[in-house]
Amino acid sequence: MKKLISLICCFILAVVLVVFLPSSKYKSKLHTSADIKQIGKFNQTIEYMDEDIHDVFSMYYQGELVGYLNDKSKFDKHLVTLYNNEYRDIYSNSKLNYDEDIYITKTKTNYIYSNVDDRIIAWLDINDLYSLEATYISIIEDNNIKYGIYVKDEETYQEAMNTFISYFIDQKVLATLNQGATLPSLSNYGSRETGISITQRIVIAKKFAKKEEIMTTKEEVLEFLKYGDNEEREYYVVQQYDTLAGVGSKNHGLSAKQVMDINRDKISSVDQVLQEGEELCVTYFTSPINIVITKEVLKERPIYFASNFVEDSSLLEGLSEVRKTGENGSENVLYLEKWVNGVLLDGEVLSSTVTKESSNEVIAVGTMSLPDVGTGNYRYPVDNPSITCPWGCYFGHVGVDFINLYDPWGDIYAVDNGVVVENSYTYINGNYIIINHNNGYRSYYGHMRVPSELPVGTIVQKGDVIGHIGMTGYATGPHVHFHFDDGVEDHRMDACNGFIDCAGLY
Ligand SMILES: [Zn+2]
Repeated sequence: MKKLISLICCFILAVVLVVFLPSSKYKSKLHTSADIKQIGKFNQTIEYMDEDIHDVFSMYYQGELVGYLNDKSKFDKHLVTLYNNEYRDIYSNSKLNYDEDIYITKTKTNYIYSNVDDRIIAWLDINDLYSLEATYISIIEDNNIKYGIYVKDEETYQEAMNTFISYFIDQKVLATLNQGATLPSLSNYGSRETGISITQRIVIAKKFAKKEEIMTTKEEVLEFLKYGDNEEREYYVVQQYDTLAGVGSKNHGLSAKQVMDINRDKISSVDQVLQEGEELCVTYFTSPINIVITKEVLKERPIYFASNFVEDSSLLEGLSEVRKTGENGSENVLYLEKWVNGVLLDGEVLSSTVTKESSNEVIAVGTMSLPDVGTGNYRYPVDNPSITCPWGCYFGHVGVDFINLYDPWGDIYAVDNGVVVENSYTYINGNYIIINHNNGYRSYYGHMRVPSELPVGTIVQKGDVIGHIGMTGYATGPHVHFHFDDGVEDHRMDACNGFIDCAGLY
């Protein structure tokens, strides 16, 4: 019995010695439960326990252990080889790294784990758990990242940005402004850009991303600069006789230049002849950035003459007589305009110089009532006028569309003395008013925001406010549809042909 007990003791001691003593130079094979324990995604086992503590790299995926790496340098080399073979052509000057869900850490251990390096690499490849170093463009507004995009390199981004900016500013002017130089001031009528700025802060950094997230072409980046993440695009099919101005007029009240800018791939000039059936995009930019251009514009503005009435008892009541004809004066006005992504936001008068004084007309009246006969000198129906759609700018457009550049919903004026003969509404022209100038001509004002307050029979003087610019009826933006006729509904006449001087309004 004693023998048996000592035998058992010896056996236990032997086991303890084998298992727990880190026995000198011998790499002792383990024979414990750890032997069967399987570790990580690839069932690694502990092969033995080393005498010395060494570094080991372990890989995690979404917080879970993938496994212990036997040879970390093999993984590093694989990244380089994979980049050279499969990515370098498209993403040059970049490098490959693991997906952000992959995490590698270094720890110290005595254990030697079974080698599953090849299986881990195959698993990384199959699941494409890689990311590429890209240029990260963040657009910051109010200290928040509003948009962030990955581009394969900074050059591709810059090329797209330069193209987008070139829509809105002359390239030579831009180069001069970038050098901090000033441009000569305006000596003739026209405009010049005086400044460019971007409202948002754009930060360019390096960041890793999945390849699907990375924009690789200038066109992709340009599309983002034009529309951000807005994917809605509306198209218009060009009809016979359409001009660029006509297409814009039929679609959201865009200008010819704006229609050109959104179709730069097809259109290079606002005068370009359009092909019937051609498809043009009519969705204006919804850019994530605001490119602000300031412009100085020198324009001639008429100074309208006034009518002075003098009573004349020698004239019969109801009669009037022009004793002195009036003459319009003119002034040169320098405006400061602010444009954002090709849209005029506002304009203010910087200075003005009278180039010719106006001279008032003198009308003798034989009555206290005001004359309702036109002078034949017509003023513009709106202030700060510009013509968006001239006579015939699309088929069937018999009229001239006036806008007020700086006050889109501003007042509409009687272009001459006369009497209101119609104040009504049609499906096409919305709220409209007709003034008979009692000189053989009548003027027509369409799309008024609200019906004119002037009842039929009201005598109006040239320059009286007769309504407000609007877009009732068939209109895609606020404007006045304007024409003359000779009293017969169908005899419409182009206001720019002998009535009003439209030069410089297009
Ligand atoms: Zn019109």
